[in-house]
Amino acid sequence: MKKIAVLTSGGDSPGMNAAVRAVAKKAIYHDLEVFGVYRGYEGLMSGEIKSLKLEDVGGIIHRGGTILGSARSEKFKTEDGQLQAMNNLNNFGIDALVVIGGDGSYRGAQALHKKGIKTIGLPGTIDNDINGTDFTLGFSTAVNTVIEAIDRIRDTATSHERTFVIEVMGRDAGDIAAWAGLANGAESIFIPEKTTGKEGMIARLKQGFERGKKHSIIIVAEGVGTAEEFADYIREHSSYDARVTVLGHIQRGGSPVGFDRILGTRLGAKAVELLMADVAGKALGLEKNEISVHDFDYVFQKKASKRLEEFSKLSMELSM
Ligand code: ADP
Repeated sequence: MKKIAVLTSGGDSPGMNAAVRAVAKKAIYHDLEVFGVYRGYEGLMSGEIKSLKLEDVGGIIHRGGTILGSARSEKFKTEDGQLQAMNNLNNFGIDALVVIGGDGSYRGAQALHKKGIKTIGLPGTIDNDINGTDFTLGFSTAVNTVIEAIDRIRDTATSHERTFVIEVMGRDAGDIAAWAGLANGAESIFIPEKTTGKEGMIARLKQGFERGKKHSIIIVAEGVGTAEEFADYIREHSSYDARVTVLGHIQRGGSPVGFDRILGTRLGAKAVELLMADVAGKALGLEKNEISVHDFDYVFQKKASKRLEEFSKLSMELSM
């Protein structure tokens, strides 16, 4: 293995740059040639592949987003698209590829691996929805962003004795909602992993306000519905008004927290080490603070939600 490429794909996440930097620097340290593929699989098909030098990855460890850009490509899901990508990789003499992205990006990496390119996947998504890793790259930063945003909303909620329903990201996973909910002391959390009736929310609202509480924060993971639906339910079933905030894309950006910088760095460096040892067709993660190495098929399985159920129950117990 002499030439290695790296790309970022799917939704961007804070810490991707730390991983790109680590891949590039570790490869250069071991006298390998390293290439950056711009705009994910789209760029892989159109040949947007450039040599990465040390100066290209300097001063990026603290930056959110991805310097390589990201994209979604329907064409890459087809045989034609993948052959086009293979052609470009072969033309550059690239024999190994590190893909930083989510579940969809991993499927692309697996397809290329089956066609003969040595691939390693790194879990880059704020959603924390990938099996085989306790944390995905960007999740910790996103949780912190949500916590800060809700702290601000709580100031207003308290001043005006209001109920706020806040919708957070996570696709089908409730991780961001459950973690931020616990850290914010939310009154109710709704996540896809645990069915909780809306009736309980009304009872808890009443109890809280009767006891003299000055606010109520309800966090809704986007995977269970919209904040607006929950606010409508509150208006229809109680005398309380409810304000809605959809946090949206502020959750994806921002400078990565220390944990994501270190996770990205460890994952990126390990990817190069494994490729040098001829290990490929694997997805890396972090389990019990060790870098884990799993087959792609293993990480495609649904992630266990035990921790989220525990968090949801604990939030409920503590939010009296
Ligand atoms: P994420 O990686 O964050 O889950 P997507 O699901 O949008 O994001 O996937 C990113 C890209 O990965 C897609 O635009 C597509 O190019 C590629 N991809 C997704 N699914 C497949 C698949 N089954 N086979 C090949 N490539 C895929």
